[in-house]
Amino acid sequence: MIPLKSQKDLVMLKRSGAILAVVMQKLQASLRPGITTLDIDLLSEELIRKEHALAAFKGYKGFPGTACISVNEEIVHGIPGSRVILDGDIVSIDLGVNLEGFFSDMAVTLAVGKVDETRLKLIAVAKQSLDIGIKQAQVGNYLTDISHSIQSFVEGEGFSVVRQFVGHGIGRALHEEPEIPNFGRPGLGPCLKSGMVLAIEPMINLGGWECKIMENGWTAVTADGSASAHFEHTVAVTDIGPVILTKLN
Ligand code: MG
Repeated sequence: MIPLKSQKDLVMLKRSGAILAVVMQKLQASLRPGITTLDIDLLSEELIRKEHALAAFKGYKGFPGTACISVNEEIVHGIPGSRVILDGDIVSIDLGVNLEGFFSDMAVTLAVGKVDETRLKLIAVAKQSLDIGIKQAQVGNYLTDISHSIQSFVEGEGFSVVRQFVGHGIGRALHEEPEIPNFGRPGLGPCLKSGMVLAIEPMINLGGWECKIMENGWTAVTADGSASAHFEHTVAVTDIGPVILTKLN
């Protein structure tokens, strides 16, 4: 069952999302060559605490970090640690906030220093594919209208869409129904209703879509070692159209 949110719930989810957007903006500003992924993680924890919220990923199914920080060929679930960010890296930061039991989830991929044009395009296409997917989050559309729009756009630009990881419903839990693939035929799945809240999160690769999991049991990397980019917003389906909750006010 997909839980529908009340107006009151949406107010809280918007507050949660606004905190996340502010934290993410500060993390972006801190990103530079020479810092480690752990530095970013510690800062994210400090910033979330300052907002009197909780880090939603920390300890989730045993995840050790506050943020998932995935560099270059890492797709998602990078564990923060001693890896040093270098000039020319692309860095995905995926972060969740729990504000009084209301969850929000957001990811961005950022270029650090001088990044080559192909990978800059990868980032731009990933970002645009999220915008395109969000536009389909309309009352009366079907769930996979989102999926199909993302895949068509991304593949039309010459990149591939990760299959093993998908978006999800979100609200009173970090992961709720439904699963939201970033690929597939349109017109399938549940019809979208006002009050659904969806974490839409395309992950796209420069090479093939296949991935493998590292020995740490968490980090997903591209099977062919090509670069990967990831963007995510928490989005409410409403009668006046999709509303992005993880946005700066
Ligand atoms: Mg997510």
